[in-house]
Amino acid sequence: MGVRYISTRGGAEPVDFAEATLAGIAPDGGLYVPDVWPTPDLAPARTAGLAYADLAQKVLTAFVGDALPDAALAAAARRVQDGFHHAAVTPLVQLAPNLWVLELFHGPTAAFKDLAMQMAASLSDAALSRTGEKLTLLTATSGDTGAAAVRAFAGADNIRLVVLHPLDRVSPVQRRQMTTVDAPNVLNLAVRGDFDDCQRLVKALLADPRLRNRGRLSSVNSINWARLAGQVPYWVAAASALGGSRPRFVVPTGNFGDAFAGWAARRMGADVGPILAAVNRNDALARALNEGVYERRSATPTASVSMDVQAPSNFERLVFEASGRDADRTRDLFATFEREGRVELGADLRARLTAEVSATSIDEAETRAEIRRTFDECGRVICPHTAVALAAARRMDTGAGPVVALSTAHPAKFPDVIRETLGFDPEQPPALRGLEGLPERLTVVDADLEAVIAEIA
Ligand SMILES: *Cc1c(COP(=O)(O)O)cnc(C)c1O
Repeated sequence: MGVRYISTRGGAEPVDFAEATLAGIAPDGGLYVPDVWPTPDLAPARTAGLAYADLAQKVLTAFVGDALPDAALAAAARRVQDGFHHAAVTPLVQLAPNLWVLELFHGPTAAFKDLAMQMAASLSDAALSRTGEKLTLLTATSGDTGAAAVRAFAGADNIRLVVLHPLDRVSPVQRRQMTTVDAPNVLNLAVRGDFDDCQRLVKALLADPRLRNRGRLSSVNSINWARLAGQVPYWVAAASALGGSRPRFVVPTGNFGDAFAGWAARRMGADVGPILAAVNRNDALARALNEGVYERRSATPTASVSMDVQAPSNFERLVFEASGRDADRTRDLFATFEREGRVELGADLRARLTAEVSATSIDEAETRAEIRRTFDECGRVICPHTAVALAAARRMDTGAGPVVALSTAHPAKFPDVIRETLGFDPEQPPALRGLEGLPERLTVVDADLEAVIAEIA
């Protein structure tokens, strides 16, 4: 029996896991969610102490059903475990009584997106081998997403990955993470322009009939169901490791994918307590939950760059669930938001949303003060994203039970912020070492659709 996936906007045919993964977004513009949430036995007694790969396979099996062969799920789960530079994959580290961080950055590019991206790559490749189809994936990146995607999709049998980054506007480490991978199925395009040019080009490419006619075409963005599925296992692992205490979690949040995976873990029976989404100054999510108005403003740059998001894409999944799976209401709400950039949630919906997840905003001074404090008190260097979560966690009463802050990137990915705040350079983790001097593969192109198509075709 297979789980089916339905659209949050109610206007698409239900599909299986493989099709939901390959399609990305549903044809009616909604996001896929399971038609019925699976409830495997995720109780601490059944999951604590499982190897990460075994736990991931248990979670995936519940999501996938018979849509993909068991061997493909086992291989995907094993690949995540083997690609990480830590035996526990996502270790829990205690900072103070009842205060923990869950380190999600021991993967191939030293950021938590590796967990989702590795899973999406393995499962997409397996989904394509069912039918013999080929897929071209396009992505625009300001650095981190492209790096995680290149490392995850390199060598995939049925997928070609094209990454557009702005020439000379990503950090040298980020560029090398993308360009030193020797894989014939990866094309790095360095665009003479900025990140917005790259995004505009990807949008135009996705709509261009010349590419559409040549096989499946999609993009690797954070609404993809396989990416979400890859983020559920570590929530289960962390909750179970704390032994039936129903820990509270604080999540550094951008597009709300990580936090929604936590919500899903709890919905599926994991011992996850209240979830607090911590955002930076780009606080559309916090304003929506705390004031009842979901409004897009232009994003301002912060130290926690991967969270500079003002229209968190996975919020739609939470609205769908909190509204009692009301697809009409979800469709109307997001259609209004897309049209007008602003929508009132209504008091009833706001109350139901905040019963599921709460949100708070942390400013730049608090972020830097938290980096300083964690170093002074615990001797640990944390990245700015982790600092946003920990600063929010400090406001909670740890006397009432354990609090877990998710730690999403290695500090060495943000050397400038660390140097300015602590006065020294962070140590390089294994994933970031040894890239200098390796041959780089990239093609420089003008920010012009025809020029880019000539390179891809
Ligand atoms: C993407 C990212 C986040 C935000 O995760 P979402 O799932 O988009 O909420 C937080 N920290 C880091 C380091 C990231 O790369």
